[in-house]
Amino acid sequence: MIEESSSIPTNGSSIELTTQGLSVPNYPIIPYIRGDGIGTDVTPVMLKVVDAAVAKAYDGKKKIQWFKVWAGDEAVAKNHSELSEDEIKEIPPDERQKLYLPDETVAVIRKHLVAIKGPLTTPVGGGIRSLNVALRKVLDLYACVRPVRHIGTPAPVKRPQDLDIVFFRENTEDVYAGIEWRAGTPAAKKVINWLEQEMGVTSIRFTEMCGIGVKPVSEQGSKRLIRAAIEYAIKNNRTSVTMAHKGNIMKFTEGAFRDWGYEVGEQYAQIITEQALFETYGGTVPSGKIVLKDRIADQFFQQMLLRPTEYDVVATLNLNGDYMSDAAAAQVGGLGVAPGANINYKTGCAVFEATHGTAPKHAGKNRVNPGSIILSASEMLQYMGWNEAARLILSGIKGAISSKLVTYDLERQMEGATLLSCSQFGDEIISNMQEGK
Ligand code: NAD
Repeated sequence: MIEESSSIPTNGSSIELTTQGLSVPNYPIIPYIRGDGIGTDVTPVMLKVVDAAVAKAYDGKKKIQWFKVWAGDEAVAKNHSELSEDEIKEIPPDERQKLYLPDETVAVIRKHLVAIKGPLTTPVGGGIRSLNVALRKVLDLYACVRPVRHIGTPAPVKRPQDLDIVFFRENTEDVYAGIEWRAGTPAAKKVINWLEQEMGVTSIRFTEMCGIGVKPVSEQGSKRLIRAAIEYAIKNNRTSVTMAHKGNIMKFTEGAFRDWGYEVGEQYAQIITEQALFETYGGTVPSGKIVLKDRIADQFFQQMLLRPTEYDVVATLNLNGDYMSDAAAAQVGGLGVAPGANINYKTGCAVFEATHGTAPKHAGKNRVNPGSIILSASEMLQYMGWNEAARLILSGIKGAISSKLVTYDLERQMEGATLLSCSQFGDEIISNMQEGK
């Protein structure tokens, strides 16, 4: 098992953002949050797999200097072991949140730009939504990037390999902004009165006992997300960016998202619209061009299932993105092992994460699947430009799965599979790493 380092590594340096993009030293300091529950199982395995991939790819010329930082239950146990659970619940939410997500941890991630984390428990007591949401908010990580592709896991569709989509889900706006009032409260009644009396709203069907939520969608928030999706498509030789939205119904939020997206597209020489694709290019995407198109959300769900090869990079708002990325991951049989990252492309700050939770009943048993955080680490290496190491990890995972040497969650779905522990699966990934695969 890898030793956990909690002091700042002395032989590494920070990743920085320059006008040319990320500048990654050969010995970058990367902060990591171990995570609660099964974070104790999966995170050390991830560290070992990443170190092995980097060593194999660069023969010792590059090496990550891991820097352990605290968050979640682990942060409270380390810094406030004197407090009981009841005492913690009494602390006002803003202060309580800092016990679980210390300012120091946020500052270290902000300084070093790229970090990776295991799952975190939502803290006890009311008033705190989730530490993941708090981290995204405080670092303004506006793009939730979820690549979904088939890695050999058992899947419910005939051709799971046809789906290869990278979702860019807006992370800071939409109905997820948390602006809502409970039915029957004075605040909800006040908002309803204001809507009816001052804003001329007549369409609230039942005004008694009616909860109210607000859906903010801004030009700035939409454009920065769609720009990130387009630039990703350009950098990674993708052929299309699809804006999935419900603009036929929600014209000034979802519809505006689409319209602002087309405005962003006009700024790129590489972008052509679907109309231009058929009218000017006869339906074949010319080399070096990327088609910017849009689909109504329900139609997109159907087509993702029926014609997945037509979709490549997808930009969408927060709620749509939540459903779509999970549905896509389920379609390729990879929901439990899907990778994810939250990124601010302007500051360069990016936090890669396991997308599952802390699964407390499995914690500390060395039995769960470390695939999600390991695939997220592979995405992190790609973000850093260490593509050779990223590819080695992917080849290792695919190799282990195709040999049917897997953890319990996959073993029970694969005929003739051999059951491995979490750490054995990590070792199997390492021994299956192959260049050029
Ligand atoms: P969960 O993902 O923790 O677990 C649900 C079930 O999925 C588990 O019982 C287990 O059967 C399976 N599972 C999850 N991860 C697995 C893995 N790596 N390998 C094999 N099987 C796995 O979801 P939950 O029970 O709803 O949430 C538990 C806690 O996690 C809550 O406190 C919640 O707030 C938190 N959570 C954190 C994150 C995050 O940090 N990103 C995400 C979701 C939930």
